[in-house]
Amino acid sequence: MMTYLEAAHLILAEAGAAVSEEDIVSRAIAKGLIKPVGKSPVKSIGVVLRRASQNPTSAFENAGPRLWKLKEALDTDSQVSMREAAHQILQKAGRPLHYREITRRAIRLGMIRPEGRTPALTLRARMGDDMNRNPVTPFVRVADGTYALKEWPLTSKVPAAKKTAKATAKKRQDCACCGFNPKKAYGEIGEDILLKHKDGKAVLMICGNCQIMLKLTSLVDLKARLAEIKKAAPKKVAPPKARATKPAKV
Ligand SMILES: [Zn+2]
Repeated sequence: MMTYLEAAHLILAEAGAAVSEEDIVSRAIAKGLIKPVGKSPVKSIGVVLRRASQNPTSAFENAGPRLWKLKEALDTDSQVSMREAAHQILQKAGRPLHYREITRRAIRLGMIRPEGRTPALTLRARMGDDMNRNPVTPFVRVADGTYALKEWPLTSKVPAAKKTAKATAKKRQDCACCGFNPKKAYGEIGEDILLKHKDGKAVLMICGNCQIMLKLTSLVDLKARLAEIKKAAPKKVAPPKARATKPAKV
């Protein structure tokens, strides 16, 4: 399954013209790109497209009421082929490469001409454009100046820049105080709704309940209370198995 945005991009790219929200949805469903979730996928796609198009680097452009098209690509032919060359070089290499190395290989294979004084910088710019504008871009940046293909399963194992404690805290989806996980409880809309709580130097991500409680008491006290309550709570007992019904007396 694709996201609505990815599906819309594909449908519009195929159409090469403006398409109505209704048609985007019906074509995407017909192709099995999206599953219609909720009452009105057409309304949903309108919402995501409007939101996406507000980004100046968005590939989507409103072409009339409930009508969308892709912005004219800024790329000239040679620039498109630079992007394509990068894609092919990475596919061949099968591992992340620095953009200078991608450029070297592409020139050696005659895929791109060493035009201008800085083909490597041009290539990096094209890849950057693609990653910004194209929701189904094949590229992903895995380190400074180093790119991989999204389709590679091991991409995430490439040593990434050290995560700061702050970033880790931000990624947490369970409350640092009570352990409640809104993402698990509410699904997608519960994602990233935890609130920042400064405890000394540490930044904790906590749920709304705990935020209210922390106005009344300290984190240490609140955690102790929660632990106490958990301890006191009766252990869950497996429900008794249904007894075999006795044959009714006649
Ligand atoms: Zn909490």
